[in-house]
Amino acid sequence: MVVRLRRKPGIAEALKRYEGVVVAPPPGGGWPVIFGRAAPLHVELGIGKGAFISAMAAKAPALNFVGIEAQREVLYQAAKRVAAQEAANVRLLHFDAAGIDTIFAPGEVERLYINFCDPWPKKRHAKRRLTGGRFLAKYRTILAPGGALHFKTDNAALFASSLEEFAAAGLAVRNVTFDLPAGGEDDVMTEYEARFRTMGMKIHRCEAVFPVNQKA
Ligand code: SAH
Repeated sequence: MVVRLRRKPGIAEALKRYEGVVVAPPPGGGWPVIFGRAAPLHVELGIGKGAFISAMAAKAPALNFVGIEAQREVLYQAAKRVAAQEAANVRLLHFDAAGIDTIFAPGEVERLYINFCDPWPKKRHAKRRLTGGRFLAKYRTILAPGGALHFKTDNAALFASSLEEFAAAGLAVRNVTFDLPAGGEDDVMTEYEARFRTMGMKIHRCEAVFPVNQKA
């Protein structure tokens, strides 16, 4: 007897269950249509399982949140969470942050969040760091003048190199801390952060502000 193995639905298939939450990249400036309203846009890169973005979105219903994640498996977990929460102001994207400047209109994004991104400690991989110069140039095009990147990491070396990159890109850095207290009112603990905190590691945080007068 020939036993035909039925293929288990793959992760791409499973993601389709969350079509209202996980969206395709809109061609140039279609975000208000996707959300059904125009609202200030906050974008998180590398959302993991989505604890941060879903809690931030619940705290700020007047804002639209877009979460970008390169790994389908964790994106699936995030989609499940957002759907369970019935958060109308969150959309998620299976996407590589390297293409970020192709999915938002110039100046469309009010704030970017990067939490515990891969540190890529080797020098030859430095250009992959989400806080590196190549990425900052892309963020500059999509961020509104005066918009900011909010960055958290446990990794002291990554934090130091990121501060250098921000300075080199001409960004003003504010609210720098090398030991963020837990439970800040405007902040939400991420999954990685919770793990690092139980290990007794210090959390580093800062905000890099993109200048208002970028071009004359
Ligand atoms: N922000 C979460 C997850 C941190 S781990 C938290 O703090 O708990 C870093 C996440 O970024 C991983 O889920 C990884 O898949 C994602 N990631 C790494 N490089 C990426 C890229 N270029 N574009 C989108 N997501 C990326």
